[in-house]
Amino acid sequence: MVSNNLPSCMECTRGTLVPLSDFGAQGAAVHYKAWVCTNPECEFNLKIRNGEIHLNEPIIRGARVR
Ligand SMILES: [Zn+2]
Repeated sequence: MVSNNLPSCMECTRGTLVPLSDFGAQGAAVHYKAWVCTNPECEFNLKIRNGEIHLNEPIIRGARVR
């Protein structure tokens, strides 16, 4: 599996942390705003908001109903 040199997850050691981007209020892209573990059983995440780092916040999955 190609990792593209992404960091591995320190929480579960099995997943990979992948960078996510968001869009600001003016529609400008905010790159690498959050990092999330690819392991669905782990879901460790790290977000940058207003210059502060937030670790392991609950993930909002949208309105998907099982
Ligand atoms: Zn993980």
